[in-house]
Amino acid sequence: MSTATQPQEGESLVARTLRTGFPWLRFPAELETEFVAEYRLSRRRLVRSGLCIALATIFGLAILDRTLIGADAHGVPDAVRFGVHIPLVLIAIVLTSGRLYRWYWPFVHLFAPFYGLATVLLAVKAEGALTTFIYARLIIAVFFFYFMLGLSFKAAVRTNLLTLAGFLVAAAAGSMPPQFGLYLAFLLICANLYAGAGCYALEHANRAAFLDRRLLREVATHDGLTGLLNRAALEGEIHRIWQQAIRDRDVVTVVMIDIDHFKAYNDRYGHQAGDRCLRDVARAIRHAAGTRPRDCVARYGGEEMIAVLPGADREGGEQVARAILDAVAGLAIPHERSLTQPHVTVSVGVASLRPGRDSSHDLIVRIADRALYLAKEQGRNRHAVLEEADLGEATVVLAARELRTAG
Ligand code: GH3
Ligand code: MG
Ligand code: MG
Repeated sequence: MSTATQPQEGESLVARTLRTGFPWLRFPAELETEFVAEYRLSRRRLVRSGLCIALATIFGLAILDRTLIGADAHGVPDAVRFGVHIPLVLIAIVLTSGRLYRWYWPFVHLFAPFYGLATVLLAVKAEGALTTFIYARLIIAVFFFYFMLGLSFKAAVRTNLLTLAGFLVAAAAGSMPPQFGLYLAFLLICANLYAGAGCYALEHANRAAFLDRRLLREVATHDGLTGLLNRAALEGEIHRIWQQAIRDRDVVTVVMIDIDHFKAYNDRYGHQAGDRCLRDVARAIRHAAGTRPRDCVARYGGEEMIAVLPGADREGGEQVARAILDAVAGLAIPHERSLTQPHVTVSVGVASLRPGRDSSHDLIVRIADRALYLAKEQGRNRHAVLEEADLGEATVVLAARELRTAG
């Protein structure tokens, strides 16, 4: 792997993809799935309008062929027009409505090549004065596939190459004078280059805008120093987890972590070293606590961090607390001025609760904070647990703390 594509310290997948670029119009799998879903959802109206324009064009040309050109448009051209093009476009329009929309996408990938080959058939079977005009429609079809159906650049290229191949086969089979076939093939290739370049640029810009939006969201919801969720995003997450737990009558565990004697660390090693320490401790906590997909780890404020573990009981919370203590000890960051150990340690408060119907998540955070206070009181570099049964005791502890603060 080249250094340009290697992940950099604390860099998110979105930031890395923006940095390394995506010349082949493809993101890493996880982002690609999200992009395609978002893109398809946002295209519904545009696709529907494109299909309506196509329908109007087909009818318009059928009328023009009969009135202005006066061509005998019966036979193959009409069969293609009314037997293939119009039914395909009508089905596609129906599939852009409501829940059917998800079927539009597999359909359009089948529909487009068929449509292209049918246009070639229409072109080679046209007779008399109509011939010149019908060939021009092959050029319109090129733009139709690149811009009107919502196809990705690659799918549009595939469709157009197939149409071009169909045309070349028909030309080689003697359906038109060779010099005429060659001339038209050249025009079709040019149209593909022009429209293809536009389609590529458009998809590239769409993808870049998607990444920009993602990055903006990341910056707004994550803490710049530690890369953990920030306080504002935590509020949203914990509220969601709490409401879900109320519905499922499930238990929630909150783990609150605070670095011991961190002020002394800053005083001894400087604020920048303090920042590095905070970042390393945060990473260790994220690895130890954010192991399940629904877990959420955030910076609560200053050198305090919080993990919200939906579905984890007291036992699970204690396991996470021990894993955090071990992970931070494993960092072995020297701390000469700590009264606890010669290296950086943390204290951990664990609260486990089954939310009541009208309860608020503030409650469990407050209890976890009290548990953290207990761990500090008991000597730091350890964890303390509180659950519903301990609430009485916790209230006493809180009262004592508040009295002390007031004093
Ligand atoms: P205790 O063991 O009781 O938690 O003691 P403490 O010194 O860790 O607690 P205290 O609340 O007195 O000090 C917290 C310190 O954390 C003070 C503040 O300068 C530092 N701090 C908070 N946020 C940051 C940060 O982003 N970077 C750095 N370097 N320090 C920070
Ligand atoms: Mg502290
Ligand atoms: Mg603190």
